[in-house]
Amino acid sequence: MVGAGLSGAVIGRHLAELGHDVTVIDTRPHVAGNCHTERDAATGVMVHVYGPHIFHTDDAEVWDYVNRFQTFMPYKNRVKTIARGEVFSLPVNLHTINQFFRATMAPAEARAFIDTKADTSITDPQTFEDQALRFVGAELYEAFFKGYTQKQWGVHPSELPASILKRLPVRFNYDDNYFFHQFQGMPRDGYTDMVTRILDHDRITVKLNTRFTRDQTREWDHVFYSGPLDGFYDYDLGRLGYRTLDFERFTHQGDYQGTAVMNYGEVSVPWTRITEHKHFSPWETHEGSVLYREFSRACGPDDIPYYPIRLTAEQSLLRDYVARAEAESGVTFVGRLGTYRYLDMDVTIREALDCARRFETSLARGATMPAFTVKA
Ligand code: UDP
Repeated sequence: MVGAGLSGAVIGRHLAELGHDVTVIDTRPHVAGNCHTERDAATGVMVHVYGPHIFHTDDAEVWDYVNRFQTFMPYKNRVKTIARGEVFSLPVNLHTINQFFRATMAPAEARAFIDTKADTSITDPQTFEDQALRFVGAELYEAFFKGYTQKQWGVHPSELPASILKRLPVRFNYDDNYFFHQFQGMPRDGYTDMVTRILDHDRITVKLNTRFTRDQTREWDHVFYSGPLDGFYDYDLGRLGYRTLDFERFTHQGDYQGTAVMNYGEVSVPWTRITEHKHFSPWETHEGSVLYREFSRACGPDDIPYYPIRLTAEQSLLRDYVARAEAESGVTFVGRLGTYRYLDMDVTIREALDCARRFETSLARGATMPAFTVKA
């Protein structure tokens, strides 16, 4: 397993339980990839080192899986946003609509009202902007989505796919749960503890601070590679675009913002959001507080890749790398970086379980394991 994140850990565990000897390597000094958590020594706060990660899923098998390795504490993601000098509730819900338009509409009235704002001439929204104009109208789009998205992605929302906005619901009731999913929670002792337990098996060896180069592939029966797809080829065709994040860490005595995540919708504020980590563990009490001001920018060669961009220019480069990767034998590309997709944690685990099972049946049938078990 190249990479000790969720993909490598879940596939590794599955294969170890089948009796395979598994080595997991990672260049970083810790497991869990970008969902790594660490308790701050001074305050005792569990910090989401690479930014906020909230576990949510509709997939009962995935939920059972994570609960096997960690106690999940009740946690509902409730996000607020600051725009025009006021604090609003996200995702856009009846409270947001009534506050924004200074009204007291009932659900059906609000729905009818937003319909008058929506651009119904857009029948099949393809871009982020069209999706927003179609479903919430220009005013809410401009207050909550346009500036934030410009800062987050570095391009105009008209250049981004509608799928990014489809992550967020619009609700005509007072439900301010950020996610639709049936299961949601936070690992009691953090994601790193969870991943450490997934990897805790007699047949698994973990080597941190360890690099991988593709000429090492033939030393193994099979390689599952969860590093960047273009990195596998030393970026020789060019770099797939990513956004990276910078976190400006600061501390505070007491409660700084009263909630875990405060978004900033306006372009005049350079950060996208402020995260107050102790609110991710509402079952704990801490006097001190650790916060991150989050800034997004283009990912350079020495930065940590976070969000794959996948615009038109990247698509053709991606196709070239995928074609090359498909010709490989003995290696399967997995996870967010290996398949260059914006993946939530639950989807990553689902795909990892499916991939491990595919490997198992391939072996049993004497078939070859493909380079991709999902479309990159
Ligand atoms: N978004 C926005 N305003 C917000 C929150 C999100 O415009 O206040 C947009 C933005 O483009 C973002 C996308 O919705 O990239 C998905 O948001 P989500 O909260 O799912 O992003 P993540 O937490 O994965 O960064």
